[in-house]
Amino acid sequence: MKFYSTNGQSNPVSFKDALLTGMPQDKGLYMPESIPDLSSIFKQDNDLTFQEISFLISSEFIDKELSVSQVQDIIEKCITFEAPNYNIFDNVYCLELFYGPTLAFKDFGARFMARCMESFIQSANKEINILVATSGDTGSAVAHGFYDVEGINVIILYPKGKVSNIQEKQLTTLDKNIYVLEIDGTFDDCQKLVKKAFLDKSLKDKINLSSANSINIARLIPQIFYYAYSYLQLENKSLPTVFSVPCGNFGNITAGMIGKNIGIPIYQFIGATNSNDIVPNYLITEKYKPKPSVQTISNAMDVGNPSNLVRIIDLYSDIDSIRSNLLSWSFNDDETSIMISDISKKYDYVMCPHSSIGLLGLLKYMSMQSNHMNNVFLGTAHPGKFSDIVNPIINDTIELPKRLKDVLLLEKKSVELNNDYNEFYDYLLRTFE
Ligand SMILES: *Cc1c(COP(=O)(O)O)cnc(C)c1O
Repeated sequence: MKFYSTNGQSNPVSFKDALLTGMPQDKGLYMPESIPDLSSIFKQDNDLTFQEISFLISSEFIDKELSVSQVQDIIEKCITFEAPNYNIFDNVYCLELFYGPTLAFKDFGARFMARCMESFIQSANKEINILVATSGDTGSAVAHGFYDVEGINVIILYPKGKVSNIQEKQLTTLDKNIYVLEIDGTFDDCQKLVKKAFLDKSLKDKINLSSANSINIARLIPQIFYYAYSYLQLENKSLPTVFSVPCGNFGNITAGMIGKNIGIPIYQFIGATNSNDIVPNYLITEKYKPKPSVQTISNAMDVGNPSNLVRIIDLYSDIDSIRSNLLSWSFNDDETSIMISDISKKYDYVMCPHSSIGLLGLLKYMSMQSNHMNNVFLGTAHPGKFSDIVNPIINDTIELPKRLKDVLLLEKKSVELNNDYNEFYDYLLRTFE
């Protein structure tokens, strides 16, 4: 399948090129040129496993660029944990996406992208070096996704002293092909160093650089898998199904919308945000007004310029059809905390702050509806990852999953660098040339 740019200036490219370049020259985002029709899968009763439905969906997008056994191999290596619908009460389910190595849904995108790159690189026979600047979560998902993947080195830059203890441990305790740089600066400084390296021809002549940022279409495709699987798990498929998604960059919900277009019977999407209310405002005013992000307790959603909105606009013909598919509301920190506390008290179920916003969106929608429906919200991270925020709210101590406890005992391994391009440049040549 070919992928075109939402800006329409660059030529359509293969899946491989969209994967390896990340972004078209014209600075748009890649979108699939045709929408596969898998609707028959969802019309009949079947007991496809999570891996089987993932294989069917990815085969459509990767098309003939990899062999059947290569695609099977990718899925077997990246879909190794479940994504269950947890029934909290009545018809309300949390689609729990936090059983991967870094306990958040970003594991799906990072692991799939890593295995796809691995497959294409094996045939090209040359090593690539992926640069990532991170403020926390993305970097650890990418590091774990690419860990021990052959032919790829990952170089992660994070701002010294500006990520949580758990995040830092998740970032800095891998070895092998993962290289972690602790930069004496801010996240923006890290991002500037990475951007400068990508534009530096003298560096690119010497080492092979690539990116793994969140706008890569290969990170969206695996996020379609779990909407499909979640739907297949529902007991009563004849009811209309609503998905409420806690949103930051709106990548996760865009994947769901592409999923609806390939035939998953989804009646309505709710894009729930924290106080960073750019998309809710856009739907009201039809004007896109990015703002500097404001800090909230759902910090992985603190995005003031949600990059995937252009994909959503591209999917639909006009604002009215966007509005009929997508409702978007913003919720503040107080509402987020109260929801965590209420659900913990009533149902003994603890959510992370992001997931709580998903439930807030869902309950608001349900209060406006009289119909009986399947109501699903996405649980995007394990609450234990945010125990510093969640513990005081529930007045209790969350039991950390074993994976998290283990990582806290490991020793941090990182290289400290000043916020200085020459130092970074020298490090890259010294290590990878
Ligand atoms: C990244 C992230 C989000 C937001 O997802 P987008 O695809 O950026 O909208 C929500 N929750 C958690 C835990 C995240 O890490």
